[in-house]
Amino acid sequence: MLCLAGGKLVDPTQTPAERVGDLWIDGERIVAPPADGGKGAEVRDISGKLVLAGAIDIHSHIAGGKVNLGRLLSSADHRANVEAASDGLRGGSGLATPSTFTTGYRYAAMGYTAAFEPAMVAANARATHLEMADVPILDKGAYVMLGNDEFLLQRLAAGASQTEINDYVAWTIQATAAHAVKVVNAGGISAFKFNTRALGIDEPGPQHGVTPRRIIQALSRAVHELGVPHPLHVHCNNLGIPGNVDTTLATIDAAEGLPIHLTHVQFHSYGTEGKRGFSSAAARIAEAVNANPNVSVDVGQIVFGPTMTESGDTQAQFRNRTHASPKKWLSMDIECDAGCGLVPFRYRDKNFVNALQWAIGLELFLLIRDPWRVFLTTDHPNGGPFASYPQLVRLLMERSYREECLAQINASARKLSVVGGIAREYTLAEIAAMTRAAPAKSLGLRDRGHLAPGARADLVIYEPGSDIETMFRTPVQVLKGGVEVARGGRIRSVPPGATQLVRPGYDKQIERSLKRFFDDHMTVQFGNFPLAEGEIAEAGGRIEEHACVVGGGRA
Ligand SMILES: [Zn+2]
Repeated sequence: MLCLAGGKLVDPTQTPAERVGDLWIDGERIVAPPADGGKGAEVRDISGKLVLAGAIDIHSHIAGGKVNLGRLLSSADHRANVEAASDGLRGGSGLATPSTFTTGYRYAAMGYTAAFEPAMVAANARATHLEMADVPILDKGAYVMLGNDEFLLQRLAAGASQTEINDYVAWTIQATAAHAVKVVNAGGISAFKFNTRALGIDEPGPQHGVTPRRIIQALSRAVHELGVPHPLHVHCNNLGIPGNVDTTLATIDAAEGLPIHLTHVQFHSYGTEGKRGFSSAAARIAEAVNANPNVSVDVGQIVFGPTMTESGDTQAQFRNRTHASPKKWLSMDIECDAGCGLVPFRYRDKNFVNALQWAIGLELFLLIRDPWRVFLTTDHPNGGPFASYPQLVRLLMERSYREECLAQINASARKLSVVGGIAREYTLAEIAAMTRAAPAKSLGLRDRGHLAPGARADLVIYEPGSDIETMFRTPVQVLKGGVEVARGGRIRSVPPGATQLVRPGYDKQIERSLKRFFDDHMTVQFGNFPLAEGEIAEAGGRIEEHACVVGGGRA
């Protein structure tokens, strides 16, 4: 048994959220103080230091086809960032597209103990899982993409019942060992294949005549009725297009009050005001989020500098190809299941659009009042590499630093943003909510994100100092399941993490129509499609299943 004695414990699930006390750890879990006072326990004095639960990234592209294609296009990034994360460990570099190893080391050294891959193509699930199993230390899980797949669109066009849709969604989650469901540009990726370059939310798709609104309705209801903990994870239509705020608000409406998560909402909060026809609509989005408790968002903050954009959204990436830096891009499709596009990009602080995007992200963070419903992401690596999180935390916690950075950006963008007038500074407990407790709750990870007895001993110890960024970049110590994995930014041990997933139930009848569909349309046989029991384990991974609670009993 181990006692971390006298630190300041920061846990927004408890009252008070910050208190000085002892934390007892037995094996891989936090336990109540032992009745015998802990005779024989190892006591470590950490007075003056902070203790938070391990951080959880709810949306980060760390594995799968797109990520590998991103690596393929990132030779310059790899040459420029050749450091290994720590002595004697396997390397594999690049800030935007690090290797599986570096991804695990770099996250862990920064106090992250879990990250979720948000865009797994069902037909590519096997490769995604093998790669995730190769990411050391972190727990991880994947969201399977639906909403542009032929089977769903055909069945919606034929007027399928919600029960049939639910069965199909549950089968897909089980077959691909997913943790949640994501929809990217509902119907739009399918429409792209028929030469449609954008699809509005009430516009029937060119092939099946199904509207994006109908797809979002059907999928958000399916996820809810199946009891999948994480709500439908939505990448809205019209990403990056000025005026897309209306689409984003209509998407909230399409959920009909059911839980819905809007991802990288910064890219979906644009108006058309001003002489350049591009303006911030963050205040309207924040107002809608504040007014609708069924809605959560992650921001997708941009960070100035070079990165790689990797998206399932073929329409958006086709539009973005003209902005590629360096000048190369790539678009792919597997089994007409979804799509993907890769465009290297550099965000510039003196560029009007990029500077305003940066400000819009900060406006969203600062205007959305509830830190339990707005999560810290850069949509790694789309808005910027996850390694920039400590700087973002500083921007949220320290107004004077925010003002300094604001003074550097394009002046016209600065004048159009309200960021400069916002006094709010996030507290430590709010940061702990947005990066730990809230993602854990949203994902149904009941034993993570907090410090109560029974929780995993995924812990981060920080030395408070005057520099918030340094504190968050280099924790004193990081424990994963009670084992020290990093100290002072150096990796100390490399235990494997576990793959998180859910297994919602379904009526096996759906497999008969799926079998017919596979025989008619797919290159893979139906029986070979689902991941077999044991495949993840064979690749060195471990599985942790989380409960589906039918009837909306979300924790
Ligand atoms: Zn993303």
